[in-house]
Amino acid sequence: MAFDFDLVVLGAGSGGVAASRRAALHGAKVAIVEAGRVGGTCVLRGCVPKKLLMYAAQYGDAFAEAAGYGWQFGAAAFDMARWQAAKTTETARLEGVYRSMLAQGGVELVEGQGRFVDAHTIAAGTRKLSARHVLIATGAAPVRDAIPGIERCPTSDDLLDLAALPARAAVVGAGYIAVEFASMLARLGVPVSLLYRAPLPLRGFDDDLRRRAADALAAAGVTLMPGQAPLRIGGAPGAWRLTLPAGVTLDVPWLLNATGRRPNTADLGLEAIGVTTDSHAAVRVDARCQSSVPHVFAIGDVTNRKNLTPVAIAEGRAVADRLFGGVRDAQVDLSRVASAVFMLPPIGTIGPSESDLIAAGTTLRAYEADFKPMRHAFTGRGERTYMKLLVDDASDRVLAVHMIGADAPEIVQSLAVALSAGATKAHFDATIAVHPTAAEEFVLLRTLARRSG
Ligand code: NDP
Repeated sequence: MAFDFDLVVLGAGSGGVAASRRAALHGAKVAIVEAGRVGGTCVLRGCVPKKLLMYAAQYGDAFAEAAGYGWQFGAAAFDMARWQAAKTTETARLEGVYRSMLAQGGVELVEGQGRFVDAHTIAAGTRKLSARHVLIATGAAPVRDAIPGIERCPTSDDLLDLAALPARAAVVGAGYIAVEFASMLARLGVPVSLLYRAPLPLRGFDDDLRRRAADALAAAGVTLMPGQAPLRIGGAPGAWRLTLPAGVTLDVPWLLNATGRRPNTADLGLEAIGVTTDSHAAVRVDARCQSSVPHVFAIGDVTNRKNLTPVAIAEGRAVADRLFGGVRDAQVDLSRVASAVFMLPPIGTIGPSESDLIAAGTTLRAYEADFKPMRHAFTGRGERTYMKLLVDDASDRVLAVHMIGADAPEIVQSLAVALSAGATKAHFDATIAVHPTAAEEFVLLRTLARRSG
């Protein structure tokens, strides 16, 4: 049977764009369907603008710290409207880059809401596209129904579009988004309360990082409210009223709903063609990103596995390489993916938490360093850096690296290469330090903190 396209991709975010370009490079005829702007969450309302806001927040710290090194200034003030204008220019530039990459790659961009009409046909705007293969890369969107009344409250999308900072803010949730934005808002001078249901933020992370993340947020002035996720939210924009578990209320002019994200699968027509989804609305896929319908694949956040941009990109390229590049075994190993939390100071982590390794029956050696970085010798800040290596006792292989401290994401990215190559603790010990750095501590960890499991 003849099809209009070898591959139709739904969603022009990082994963969809990477997959479509790779497929076209292999000679496939490819269309990509997008209802909104090209670039997706990461570029337009996630990683990129978030990190640009983190840089803004870091300048505040730098101004304060510079006095210790002899600098003198007048009072510093942050203008969110100027940041907003710069961010809008930058995301527009990046959207242009994405559009031209598609055009240069020979991928046809079809603008409109894509939907399956039948298993091989996608309707988008006024078009109907028949496809040999379909790749779902529609990402995820903020959950808006976790708590009664939260549906009208701002999400991270809205925060990144603010032209002025709120006078005070409450952040609900304690995952990546909650912690990153609470940290940044506090650094930008906004009094912030972080309300969450667990005893510590960042469920799923190593407990030593979680405790230190909580301490760092408190040190930045964030009011931590564990066990205080609101039961319901009333009021209106500008005057929200949160009813807390103890029955007390908290009134805030601005509130961030950071209670998670949900895959964008509604309205794709998946059920009618037999593509199954799970209880979180994620497309069910196997390790090769294949759905319950063999010619339909899904990658990235819409599958709700490792919801990270580089994973979506790698998955998309693997699908394209397998379908059109003759790489029969192309698939992505999700077992050891490094990630970062861009709070201040940031977290970098790769591999399981200590408690997860112990629960899995691993006998471990743990090595730790906890120190005041040299940079703070003159700043008066009490900020510390913490690093941990978790080593399999039997094989000496390093299973996990966890760090909170300045530059942790940059350092852990490099160490991820060593872990992918199967580095042992002996390899770390044999590595000569770069001095004076914080990262050198990772190759100088000689004292066993504990053996467990
Ligand atoms: P997360 O899943 O990380 O966190 C969701 C938070 O919402 C948790 O603290 C959870 O609490 C809380 N929550 C959920 N339901 C409720 C409820 N009914 N009442 C109260 N609290 C609730 O989601 P995020 O939205 O922060 O991030 C989504 C994903 O995006 C992340 O998992 C990550 O993969 C990705 N991301 C990555 C970033 C990075 O790489 N730096 C940055 C931002 C996002 P509890 O723990 O108690 O369940």
